Amino acid sequence: MQRAARPSRGLDRTPTPAGARRLMPAFAAAPAPVPATLPAPAPARRPLECDGCGEVLRLPALARRTEACCPRCDAVLRGPSGSLDAPLALGIAGLVLYAITMASPFLSLNLLGRLRTSGVETGAAAFIEQGFVPLSALVVLTLVLAPLARLLLLVGVLLGLRLRHPPRGLFHAFRWHERLGSWAMVEVFLFGALVSYTRLRDLAEVEVGPAAYGVAALALTLVAVRAVLEPQLVWDALERHGATAAGRYGWPEAEAGRAPPISCDCCRLLAAAPAGSPCPRCAARLHPRKPNSVARTWALLLAALVLYVPANIYPVMVIVTFGRGGPHTILGGVAEFLYSGFWPLALIVFLASVMVPVLKLAGLVVMLVGIHRRSAARLRDRTRLYRAVEAIGRWSMIDVFVVSVLIAVVRFGNLASIDAAVGATCFAGVVVLTILAASAFDPRLMWDAAGRPGSTAPGEQA
Ligand SMILES: [Zn+2]
Ligand SMILES: [Zn+2]
Repeated sequence: MQRAARPSRGLDRTPTPAGARRLMPAFAAAPAPVPATLPAPAPARRPLECDGCGEVLRLPALARRTEACCPRCDAVLRGPSGSLDAPLALGIAGLVLYAITMASPFLSLNLLGRLRTSGVETGAAAFIEQGFVPLSALVVLTLVLAPLARLLLLVGVLLGLRLRHPPRGLFHAFRWHERLGSWAMVEVFLFGALVSYTRLRDLAEVEVGPAAYGVAALALTLVAVRAVLEPQLVWDALERHGATAAGRYGWPEAEAGRAPPISCDCCRLLAAAPAGSPCPRCAARLHPRKPNSVARTWALLLAALVLYVPANIYPVMVIVTFGRGGPHTILGGVAEFLYSGFWPLALIVFLASVMVPVLKLAGLVVMLVGIHRRSAARLRDRTRLYRAVEAIGRWSMIDVFVVSVLIAVVRFGNLASIDAAVGATCFAGVVVLTILAASAFDPRLMWDAAGRPGSTAPGEQA
């Protein structure tokens, strides 16, 4: 990626593999102040703060299929803008697929003439039966509630925007849609189901039900929604329709404060409002940096480190078939796949369950230590590392989903049974704590600590 020269106002368009053009805004220097009495500029032309490095930039009008990237840390500031029709169509398709998936059988296992069928959500009930209530809650949240809530909220907001007078409270719905983003894990479950299917085929005759195809189609649909939906477009549309926290006319007054502007964590509005006050667009609390970021990240990280040991030492499940078998650890599962010749699955489980947590823990430690040492070395790379840590976090859930699928369907009493074990709770704890740690960490603090904070212009109004 080329970096554009700062003083130039030229644009640097580089083709990307996806075919979309990337646009590097070449004007990191603060834009000219806008008097508070003037009407607020069009949403797309407002300055915004890069959430990777804290630089404040004003984006030019973007052509279609062009995304704007930060010249300091390469973060995407605004994705390619399309219409809101595609996300709406995909959202409705997702709801139909969700209904099919939840209402039909997922897997059927035939062991010596005895048949047992499970649904996608049966694992959550099986966890409760075996006394693993937190695991049940986690599966319900990530597989049942969060995906459904996100689809309903998205479709509701996009349909609401088509009304002549969209409901004023739509911004609440879209804020929750954004907040639930890292907790909807249908794609991860799909990989977990694939690993489980391979294990089950060793044990008995497996029949795949309609819900299995439903999960695959739903996962693809949700990935497509993430790809085509640019949240900033929805925020702009909500603002145009007056469906914001400030309402249709409260907007410019709400921004006409004297305080330095604060970038909203949720909708990225650069609002000139005091810290702790609600964002005039989405009503999320405004904080110049995530509150107590370093202390909270350390606390969550240390808790995850403590749990990481039992998660790998203790078994995650107990498999007994025809009186043989016993406890299985995560690494034991990887080794088993390797011996049986399923090396792609061994690789998936090893990467997701062993490498990803280690990379996340190590990456966060590196970033936190960098802040304490006020290091200015490789700031751009460390910001990229943060984005990677944030993106890969959810994939460690594969093993928790594998356990949930297996315990749901392998229940044949003395013939064969699979039960969850305490290691699964510890492992799920590591996954949840590292996701929370990554979201508590504020990468802008690395730039602040190195003495390179973003150029915020006093008097600059959002
Ligand atoms: Zn940046
Ligand atoms: Zn906001």
